Amino acid sequence: MPTSSYGFTCLDCSTSIPFEPKDLLSGTKVLCPNCMLKLSIARDAKSIVEETLAKLEELKKKQ
Ligand SMILES: [Zn+2]
Repeated sequence: MPTSSYGFTCLDCSTSIPFEPKDLLSGTKVLCPNCMLKLSIARDAKSIVEETLAKLEELKKKQ
């Protein structure tokens, strides 16, 4: 099961930026490896990540 394929698309250069959901939850900023654009995560985005993590946990329990 590919559960570690989290990523943003850079707003500036469209590079795919991988990140760890845990980093977002602790407030870490994401940096584009290509153009060094810093992406700050809005609270709405954080709640989406939390929801996604909760769903993944549920799936793990079912298997
Ligand atoms: Zn970029």
